[in-house]
Amino acid sequence: MVVANQKGGVGKTTTTVNLAASLALHGARVLVVDLDPQGNASTALGIDHHADVPSIYDVLVESRPLSEVVQPVPDVEGLFCAPATIDLAGAEIELVSLVARESRLQRAITAYEQPLDYILIDCPPSLGLLTVNALVAGQEVLIPIQCEYYALEGLGQLLRNVDLVRGHLNPTLHVSTILLTMYDGRTRLASQVADEVRSHFGEEVLRTSIPRSVRISEAPSYGQTVLTYDPGSSGALSYLEAAREIALKGVGVNYDATHAHLGAQNDPSMVEGIQ
Ligand code: ATP
Ligand code: MG
Repeated sequence: MVVANQKGGVGKTTTTVNLAASLALHGARVLVVDLDPQGNASTALGIDHHADVPSIYDVLVESRPLSEVVQPVPDVEGLFCAPATIDLAGAEIELVSLVARESRLQRAITAYEQPLDYILIDCPPSLGLLTVNALVAGQEVLIPIQCEYYALEGLGQLLRNVDLVRGHLNPTLHVSTILLTMYDGRTRLASQVADEVRSHFGEEVLRTSIPRSVRISEAPSYGQTVLTYDPGSSGALSYLEAAREIALKGVGVNYDATHAHLGAQNDPSMVEGIQ
């Protein structure tokens, strides 16, 4: 699953690491591929990623096997991370002259033999060769959308790129999931943006939105996901719920039917619009 949106700061990394941890806590084996030179996903998962650590740069540019860079995430059983170091900042240019420059990540993932249920790829805020590598390697795209003004601007370009990659390089790729992030139920703007996204994308939008939560934003500074930092917080519960929806979708089970007994775990104002 490719977590992409070229707009910066919309919650791509937060969504990648917290969904991955949620899926792992549900019992799945999950790999996070950090494809952003900022290395935020590596930091949030408590994975060492200083310049000498073998990283996704070595995989993409030096053709090193993925198995040599993957590290287990401390604290969460079944969760693994391929870290990004600052070297990756140069990869966008170095890749240009390499053979099969768009499909290097796909090749590495195909050759990776460890059993996994999910791979989540955290993309940088751009549509360059790193994101293209993710789109070629993935089966599905998850777009986090921040419930703010301008949220939908630029999305057309991302959707066109997904179409281009599907047409030329990866016929199975599709946008399967939209997740509303940093939802503040007290503002009319957030619900207007949410309505607009739902009317535009329909079924792809998860019923669960992620509330704006201080606990979510604090967790990375402790090298943790919110699932281990504050498991009972509304942020942790909403990511668990979003992961459940994704897992059910993956096996073709209707979320509505299983959701009835759950009650309002999240901010009730957030759940109101959902039921
Ligand atoms: P970039 O484009 O730079 O990679 P991004 O799309 O990965 O950014 P994040 O880094 O996940 O976005 O989030 C941006 C900021 O918003 C971070 O400081 C993060 O802690 C904060 N944040 C994300 N989600 C929430 C939330 N639900 N509540 C509060 N803060 C949040
Ligand atoms: Mg990020």
